[in-house]
Amino acid sequence: MTKTATAPRACADNCGLPVKGRKSTFLQGHDQRLVSTLATTTTYGELDAHWIERLGLSAGVNRADIQDRINEVADSLRRVFTPALAAKYVSAAHNRWAKAGRGTAAPDEPPAQEPQAPAEPERVKVKVGRWTYDGVIEARDEAGTPIAVTYTDGKGNEKTVGKFSLV
Ligand SMILES: [Zn+2]
Repeated sequence: MTKTATAPRACADNCGLPVKGRKSTFLQGHDQRLVSTLATTTTYGELDAHWIERLGLSAGVNRADIQDRINEVADSLRRVFTPALAAKYVSAAHNRWAKAGRGTAAPDEPPAQEPQAPAEPERVKVKVGRWTYDGVIEARDEAGTPIAVTYTDGKGNEKTVGKFSLV
């Protein structure tokens, strides 16, 4: 079975392609791709099961602080691949982490909406039956016509009504 000895090995970035040459670990440029993938998943997402197993990471790595995750992945890369690859990874991961505001905001999320200031109540004079009160407009229909107002009646009770006229 000498053929198995020369069977092409898979590229180590898990792309599924065979590497050329007996000593190569990665296809050209795929080490950088692995660095990039790991840096992104460490800082923005979750390391997937393949890499947790392949790098011998702890099961709780995705729950660790970002800095601890980076350290753990870097240690593993040093052991499984090379110190040079680990160093590239650390640098890439820190870049992404810094861009993400140290992990507080993922870049894929839509920008946070400015909270809308509550609208100032629109004060009006409202005539209900025979009486006129100070009131505020509670609601308008689609055309902008007031359809509900709230006022305080002569007994001090707050009332919201739909039958009224503005004066
Ligand atoms: Zn590859």
